[in-house]
Amino acid sequence: MIVAKFGGTSVADAEAIGRLIEIIRSRAGCQPVVVVSALARVTDGLLTLARQCGSGDGDAIETSLDALLERHESAARELPGCSAAMDSIAADAAELRRDLMAARDRRLSPAELDGVAGRGELWSSRLVAAAMAGAGLDADWVDIRTILVTDGRFGRATPYIQVLNQRARVHLKPIAEAGRIPVTQGFIGATATGVPTTLGRGGSDFTAALLGAALDATRVEIWTDVDGLMTADPRIVPSARTLFAASYDEAAELATFGARILHPATALPLVRAGIPIVILNSRYPERSGTTIGPQPELERLGDSPIRSISWKQGITVVNIRAPRMLGTYGFLRALFEVFERHETVVDVLASGEVSISITIEDRSRLDQITRDLGELGEVWVEAGRAIIAIVGVGLRHTPGLAGRVFNAVWPANVEIISQGASAINMTFVVRQEDGPDVVRRLHQEFFGSC
Ligand code: ADP
Ligand code: ASP
Ligand code: MG
Repeated sequence: MIVAKFGGTSVADAEAIGRLIEIIRSRAGCQPVVVVSALARVTDGLLTLARQCGSGDGDAIETSLDALLERHESAARELPGCSAAMDSIAADAAELRRDLMAARDRRLSPAELDGVAGRGELWSSRLVAAAMAGAGLDADWVDIRTILVTDGRFGRATPYIQVLNQRARVHLKPIAEAGRIPVTQGFIGATATGVPTTLGRGGSDFTAALLGAALDATRVEIWTDVDGLMTADPRIVPSARTLFAASYDEAAELATFGARILHPATALPLVRAGIPIVILNSRYPERSGTTIGPQPELERLGDSPIRSISWKQGITVVNIRAPRMLGTYGFLRALFEVFERHETVVDVLASGEVSISITIEDRSRLDQITRDLGELGEVWVEAGRAIIAIVGVGLRHTPGLAGRVFNAVWPANVEIISQGASAINMTFVVRQEDGPDVVRRLHQEFFGSC
């Protein structure tokens, strides 16, 4: 059994869905389970739509929804066998329209927001399942919300793994074993009482990995719009090279620090069973892609001690200067309790004798955080920053790397530098506007091109 996940650009339109069908046909003997994202940019469109509630502008809501619907209609028109699926998408969109119009004068609750955001996957999976059947494949549409039960943290829900494992074996496995092809949704789930949730942006990769682990798949294929995990985001570094292999840890570090190609949690469910993730380009399925697994040494690293460089923008640095932290204990606990209380994830941390710098991405509770930290010391905040991460198992054995990094990125100012405990990553903070240039200069330094 394999799990094959197709991202937004790999189901963007009729042509892309046609390619998906041929890819799955070529894997029919492997008992594939298909997981799809929403059509490219549809989740963004749905979130825009949801934000239009509260503006009172009914026309804007109608226009946005019509545009999203038209994307699906145009794909359905070109794909044989999709008219009944399109009818059910249109009926669901009509219901959504009624709900949104009724809510046009108020802001949606987080639960309602998830109900809107998850529509894209429900619609795309209907289309894909119908198109597969229309092309002669025995596809069965499966509603993942009956399998992937989560807590009620809307927008970033956590799945209940044991429930998922048990239900995936009951509801998905028999379909695949009977020679049929289940087609289901990434990104979405539901609470135990059936309220729809989402796993966070880019969460379809995570769904695929969870199902891969639950079904004890031989591999999880992530079909996307590039050849694999690369030495940098090719949108920033056009000469970036595709990696033949990477370790789970490397992939997780890169994803955590901005490599959008994988959701940061993707590797997590697969580590224990050692199930590989293979990233592949749906436009060029014959290319070998990147295999992410437990054996990072598969690839010779050449001259470079690092595997890849990533960056994440929209970072805020919170600094605390507290002379009394010197020689006291309990200070760090008090400090972290503030972030915990306000449910804000800390990315990078660097500490000196009497000061600490912490980076966060989510600024929604920043006022409360700075107020509470003010009780511990002097606090100042720097916005508009980016984190750069250099990742590779080779970092473990490479002394003097920091000097090389500083030289390469000069004259950009490096603000916080930190090396992860796993010693396979080095991260630092720069001004956001310097980010892309810094990535290019590092790529030049470590891979000889930019
Ligand atoms: P999908 O819709 O298939 O999930 P995403 O847009 O989420 O695709 O992820 C693919 C994109 O990730 C690529 O188009 C690329 O621009 C970006 N990306 C960022 N970092 C990397 C990297 N190190 N290697 C490859 N792609 C990367
Ligand atoms: N469609 C969702 C998003 O755009 C999930 C995904 O693509 O992985 O975030
Ligand atoms: Mg993605």
